[in-house]
Amino acid sequence: MTIRQLLETIKTNLPEADTELVELAYNFAAEAHAGQKRSTGDEYIEHCLHTANTLAELKMPLPIIIAGILHDVPEDTSRTLEDIKKNFGADVAKMVEGITKLGRIKYRGIDRYVENLRKMFVAMAEDIRVIVIKFADRLHNLQTLYALPADKQKRIALETLEIYAPIANRLGIGELQGRLEDAAFKYAYPDEFAATEAMIKSSFPQKKKTLANMIRKIKTRLDKDSVNCHEIYGRTKHYYSFYRKLLKYNRDVKQIYDLVAMRIIVENVPDCYAALGIVHGLWRPIRGRIKDYIAQPKPNGYQSLHTAVFGDDQEIVEIQIRTQKMHEQAELGIAAHWQYKEDGKISKKELEWVQELADWLKNIQDNNQFMEGAKIDVFQNRIFVFTPQGDVIDLPDGATPIDFAYHIHTEIGNKCSQAMVNTEVVPLDRKLKNGDVVQIVTDKNRKGPSTDWLDFVKTRTARSHIDNYKNKNWTKFLPKFKK
Ligand code: MN
Repeated sequence: MTIRQLLETIKTNLPEADTELVELAYNFAAEAHAGQKRSTGDEYIEHCLHTANTLAELKMPLPIIIAGILHDVPEDTSRTLEDIKKNFGADVAKMVEGITKLGRIKYRGIDRYVENLRKMFVAMAEDIRVIVIKFADRLHNLQTLYALPADKQKRIALETLEIYAPIANRLGIGELQGRLEDAAFKYAYPDEFAATEAMIKSSFPQKKKTLANMIRKIKTRLDKDSVNCHEIYGRTKHYYSFYRKLLKYNRDVKQIYDLVAMRIIVENVPDCYAALGIVHGLWRPIRGRIKDYIAQPKPNGYQSLHTAVFGDDQEIVEIQIRTQKMHEQAELGIAAHWQYKEDGKISKKELEWVQELADWLKNIQDNNQFMEGAKIDVFQNRIFVFTPQGDVIDLPDGATPIDFAYHIHTEIGNKCSQAMVNTEVVPLDRKLKNGDVVQIVTDKNRKGPSTDWLDFVKTRTARSHIDNYKNKNWTKFLPKFKK
């Protein structure tokens, strides 16, 4: 990769940008890293350019791209953060400082995992833009992983799948999540990767033909009904997400509808619903597969209409319909706003959970105990359920009404006596599903939580409240002796 190629990418994705500072950053970094080589044998500056190029492809604003070029300068060269600040300003220097602080982690095993997370979340809480640069950096490191010894390959790949990708997912940066996962998959699970690749490659040509025909039919109808359509295209699933789905359905490929899928990008929200109507007029939709994430967005902000239809050639095809803006949100998540807002600041509410986790990680004493909470809370798939007032509550997959109750308020958890899901009374250990409306009935005479709840609660919040109560009132839990 050359500076010319990077400038080309910037021109395509950010036509308005003044790239003079990019060239200066390149010269500065190239000089600082002069003589340094990557383990692939390439000049070190290659890595800086690739990192910046990924950021440009994601349409990140210029200061982030510049910080991407400079990200390894303070750690690996004689140039300092002060030098960067003098030449490129405080904002760029602050981002580079964030990346440098993430640094290299020397621990092993579980301590390494926790230290990694701790650093990531502290950096994110300070400046969320840093994490996107780190993702771009990691992506290029994965792409050049072939040059490293096998044990390092495996470690870096697993770390990506267990830490980086789930954070990208949680931030809604779907595009980077998919790229990171696919690049890491090959090294983390080579056999599974090969099998998945073969499966996708063998069935794709036929499906591609079917899709092309279906796309033609939809286009004709959209035009006829003057629905303003920007783009329709077929796409394969990312390998790793396909593999995960395969595991979910006990490796039965037939159950996976969206091996190939279609995406329709239209002008506005009414066009989305009009397009959905057209699709359902052409092919019969599959019951239970129509999802309106426009009216009910996912907790990470994702919006789209989803459906799956019995399409041509007996193929089941999944279709996503969205506006351009929703599309950017889906690919870039939290980073989508940065194209419009210069300072990269996002609302407090969006970042609440990051700050919460950063604080909690700073204080954690026992790494082993920590693992249980973190893996469950952040790194599982999330579901979203509703209060009777229609507020969205974001919980980990498998959460129960007790988790919901503690999420609302400690006292509601402690005094919970009954739960209603969609107007039906359910057991307190019922696993909640996406879209459930949950109502908690409390009993003010209730003394406190039941320790049995520890057997099924999923969230760290619920568990720690129940534990706390138990510890404070420990005498109650002593075995009762006969007098
Ligand atoms: Mn780097």
